[in-house]
Amino acid sequence: MGTSDLALAAPAQGLQRLRARLAVYIGRIAVLAGRHPLAVGALGTLLSLGAVGLTFVTLAAGRQDTIDHACDTSRNVISILSNDVQHNFELADVSLQAVTAGLRDPAIMKLAPEIRHKVLFERAASARYISAVSALDENGNVIEYGAGKPPTANLADRDYFYVHAQNRDAGLFISRPYHSRLRNHAASIALSRRVEKADGSFGGIAVIAIDIGYFQQLLDRLDVGTSGAAFIIRNDGTMVARTPALRNSTQFVVFRSAIMRRMLQSQRGSYEAVSPFDGITRIYTFARIPGTALIAAVAPAEKDILVEWKRRSIIVGASALFVSATFIVVIWLLAFALRDRAAMQSRLEHMAQTDSLTGLNNRRTLDKVLLTEWQRMQRTGREVSILFIDVDHFKKYNDAYGHAVGDEALKRIAAGLARHLKRPGDSVARYGGEEFVAVLPETGERGALNVAEAIRREIEVCHSAEGVRRIPAMTVSIGCGAATLAGDLSLEAFMRRIDSALYAAKAAGRNRVVAAEPAVALAEV
Ligand code: GH3
Ligand code: MG
Ligand code: MG
Repeated sequence: MGTSDLALAAPAQGLQRLRARLAVYIGRIAVLAGRHPLAVGALGTLLSLGAVGLTFVTLAAGRQDTIDHACDTSRNVISILSNDVQHNFELADVSLQAVTAGLRDPAIMKLAPEIRHKVLFERAASARYISAVSALDENGNVIEYGAGKPPTANLADRDYFYVHAQNRDAGLFISRPYHSRLRNHAASIALSRRVEKADGSFGGIAVIAIDIGYFQQLLDRLDVGTSGAAFIIRNDGTMVARTPALRNSTQFVVFRSAIMRRMLQSQRGSYEAVSPFDGITRIYTFARIPGTALIAAVAPAEKDILVEWKRRSIIVGASALFVSATFIVVIWLLAFALRDRAAMQSRLEHMAQTDSLTGLNNRRTLDKVLLTEWQRMQRTGREVSILFIDVDHFKKYNDAYGHAVGDEALKRIAAGLARHLKRPGDSVARYGGEEFVAVLPETGERGALNVAEAIRREIEVCHSAEGVRRIPAMTVSIGCGAATLAGDLSLEAFMRRIDSALYAAKAAGRNRVVAAEPAVALAEV
């Protein structure tokens, strides 16, 4: 073998050793499983349920992840929407500030109306959705109109007017939504600023209107799913615009639902709630649009968000349940099979150890017991006694009453023997035919003789025991002996002595107990 062969052989041996060790462990586990089959079933069930539990926990975490992801998307959408609104409001405010600065300037106000109009509005822009700037005097009458000749109208009842009349520091005011009287009832919200006279007193306002259509088209462009919603509310709870659009009757209504209250109370947030309009559960994400008194909210429906997660969860959950249920069924079938096998094995063992007619130990077991007790006697020095019990004239008994009655007699004798051998360690076996052997550990000859005599008397009467069928009487002869350390040299010699004692009992007329000759006497023969 070359060196390379050696190098190959070493891992192969390692593998073999590993395999052998594995086989030992598997063998041990199999033995343990065989001993506790129901524990195997319970453990398998627990493991399986644990795996299912873990699967469901993971799926539940997946649901939260999906919702979190949807919230992130909503936040991004709101951010883009916010930027657009902010930008347009800033543009509108620039126009407003230009006009208010002009209105405050006495030099400009002294100009002829056409020139004044030109100067005032040269920097004020109007665009789609954003109306021209108007100027109102301190009584609410329209005095200037960026788009042309001022209409004759008094707007003193509008919030964007009186808020400045009552409050010097209202700054840029964002009005409640309203239907414009000057622009064909167009739904609008107004941005207004106070104009002050030279003495600081209220001199009217400059106002610019933004069409609600602007917000509506912003929202309508969003993809909120089949059952989602998006809306913009004013910070007093007034609905400014919503997609899908609400019925007209609900436009500009101030909502005081729990959902709205939560939005009005904080700067931004996300939460799950049931819509009071249509009962759909949505994931609301909202944020204030800086500098606008408006709040934007995007609320995709929970069922839209979770549709993919649900589909996946049903497949994964059902598969996990199926696999787990199958595993549990299989493990329990295995456990019951193991249990049956163990029961069968113990039955077989029992059968191999006992005599089928009497239920007593059989000869094989007797041989083991004898050897054990003989060795124990030699180890401890404590005596052990043995009785040879043989039924008298049993051949004649069988001939006279039949084999079945003979069998019944043997059973009663066995029961009678068992009744008298109740000390722990006592054992009795059917030696064969109508012969029995009793082993009495830690019992001397005197005690053994007493037990033997009691047994002899018991057998004399047990044919007519109470509660059982009477059968013809029978008797037994018993040879009895005790082994001591100083006695026999072998178990066989000891047994021969007792056999002789039994023979002596038969010879002396049967139905009697005879003690074996002392061992020394036999040894001398
Ligand atoms: P002794 O008093 O000298 O012992 O005479 P015995 O007839 O009892 O002795 P023997 O050994 O000649 O006969 C034993 C009889 O026991 C032979 C057989 O008919 C009977 N026998 C042995 N085994 C069984 C059994 O399982 N059932 C029945 N009914 N009889 C059995
Ligand atoms: Mg016999
Ligand atoms: Mg006999």
